[in-house]
Amino acid sequence: MELAKVGEFGLIDLLNRRMIFSPEGVIAGIGDDAAVLKPSGGQWQLFATDMLIEGVHFRLDWSGYYAVGYKALAVNISDIAAMGGQPTHAVISIGIPEGAQVEDITELYRGLKDIAEKYQVNLVGGDTVKSPERVVINIALLGEVPEGKAIYRSGAKPGDIIYTTGYLGTSAAGLHLLQHFQPPFTDSQQQIIKAHILPEPCVKAGVLLSQLEGVTALDDNSDGLAAELREICRASSVGCLVWERTLPIASDVQKMSMDLGLSSLDWVLNGGEDYELLFTVQPEKQALVEDTLRQAGIQCTAIGIITSTINEIKLEYLNGNKELLTATGYNHFK
Ligand code: ADP
Ligand code: MG
Repeated sequence: MELAKVGEFGLIDLLNRRMIFSPEGVIAGIGDDAAVLKPSGGQWQLFATDMLIEGVHFRLDWSGYYAVGYKALAVNISDIAAMGGQPTHAVISIGIPEGAQVEDITELYRGLKDIAEKYQVNLVGGDTVKSPERVVINIALLGEVPEGKAIYRSGAKPGDIIYTTGYLGTSAAGLHLLQHFQPPFTDSQQQIIKAHILPEPCVKAGVLLSQLEGVTALDDNSDGLAAELREICRASSVGCLVWERTLPIASDVQKMSMDLGLSSLDWVLNGGEDYELLFTVQPEKQALVEDTLRQAGIQCTAIGIITSTINEIKLEYLNGNKELLTATGYNHFK
């Protein structure tokens, strides 16, 4: 159905179902000039925003509207998780091109609502406008962390151990498949592609880390390991050494890189969009942090160590050689 048939307000009415998943914080959601929210006591407010533009961040022929909605909220939730917080309330602004159908936008909202429900995020408002040719979606997301418990990028100290949750490089491998191959994809390839188009933010891990002693810095891996390490090192005025031998790469991804004669290391360092958490831990707290995460079913791997040489990011290869890393991951204006 043409969007013009229902109009802006008709569309909002259509979408305005299944928007609130944690009602106690919401006095008034969609329908007035602003949402009215009730802050919880004893919490600090987190506030993040991320914008996705068709052709820059996603392609509808690869992702479809459902995945665009899902990912738009996933990347914002990941930013809240990367402070150690719990996401709470979101507003969503969308720019819709002329040719889009009502069904496209309801599909986008189906993706949005599925992940909102999973992480108990309330969708409390937004804005709907016409865009000349591309779909644009911007989300602003509130979150909470107990007072004093936010974890910054700036706290890493020489000797701290660097960790990542999950596996790295999977999303970049998925993007490679989409760029260079045509469907049908094998089951294994579909799983790899899924990591790229439907990423999962690490909320449980972030919240646990904020409750633990000895976690000194935290960041989410959106731009690739090299770029994120650079951010932590810059913010903390330190350097680091990463060990290639310990980098966690999923076996399917390792196999795919060998079959294609490509470097999975490049996907890990420069790919990004894994949305795993990268964090540093005081050496005497390693066992505590590892045990706590593993008991919660969260995989984590020590991948390197913080050093004192400011902004020097080094990689120790499998053969023991060490090299300075110059790659900076994905940079929009490069
Ligand atoms: P205003 O003119 O006051 O900005 P709008 O007509 O833009 O109001 O929006 C009406 C209501 O619908 C508001 O509560 C707004 O937050 C909500 N809304 C508008 N667009 C969206 C959207 N894309 N997603 C969710 N809520 C929306
Ligand atoms: Mg408006």
